[in-house]
Amino acid sequence: MNNPDKPARSHGRKSITATRTPRDLLGDPDPRAGVWTAQVLTLFPQAFPGVLGESLTGRALRDGLWALDPIDLRPFGIGPHRNVDDTPTGGGAGMVLRPDVLGRALDQAAPRARGDWPVIYLSPRGRRFDQGMARRLAQADGVTLLCGRFEGVDQRLLDAHDVQEVSLGDFVLTGGEIAAQALIDATVRLIPRVLGNQASTEEESFSDGLLEHPQYTKPAVWKDRAVPDVLLSGHHAKITDWRRAMAERLTKERRPDLWRAYCERHGRDPEEDQEL
Ligand code: SAH
Repeated sequence: MNNPDKPARSHGRKSITATRTPRDLLGDPDPRAGVWTAQVLTLFPQAFPGVLGESLTGRALRDGLWALDPIDLRPFGIGPHRNVDDTPTGGGAGMVLRPDVLGRALDQAAPRARGDWPVIYLSPRGRRFDQGMARRLAQADGVTLLCGRFEGVDQRLLDAHDVQEVSLGDFVLTGGEIAAQALIDATVRLIPRVLGNQASTEEESFSDGLLEHPQYTKPAVWKDRAVPDVLLSGHHAKITDWRRAMAERLTKERRPDLWRAYCERHGRDPEEDQEL
């Protein structure tokens, strides 16, 4: 799609000129280029890259470390108004996205979706997104994300295309776009070289099943609050021990579920007293 010599592939492919995003910001979505690609089926392609175009993810996108391929659902709609939704069969409030419309969009997306390439519908009914899922997705060749709107999508579409449902959490958003951006952000930052400093993904929350230790920076004293002495000691082994102990204590206090799983993995007693 970024090759100026090639004509637009089809009516459904989002026109780059329709976005406020410079052409090269979207990267090269051609899977042959071998970069991890997020293909996003949405009624609001102009919402992309959105916040993903900022800071580290934005720079990585411009540098071609990953690619974004938003596909506008509207042109696949029916009739002169390109209708994409209809009333729920059996009655009830709201509108449901039609399977024939979404099916055509997915069929067009499918040729890109080869190899290890999950197709995901962002949905509050889905499996809860977590760091493990982000890690697995970052290992894949790319992902196709379907963003719902209104009451969601016709079940037959999900069944026919073997779509996985993934939820951001136990709350209801208006549409899948924010969820898709969150999923992409969490995944892309695990792609080598995106963060620059790889060590930061190894030490942060969830990397070892623990929440992160508290962080401090300058000034050393702020409003009569001093940073913990050990962090100023220059003693690296002591600092590492302190940080791990704090991470364990925080996890035990705030997330007993994570703490139990961590103790099981490390053969520890979840009730043991924290040394600090
Ligand atoms: N009627 C649906 C909610 C539809 S919300 C239900 O009760 O399950 C409209 C769209 O927002 C959904 O199709 C989905 O794509 C997106 N969405 C809403 N909440 C979400 C969440 N927690 N995680 C991921 N996507 C969500």
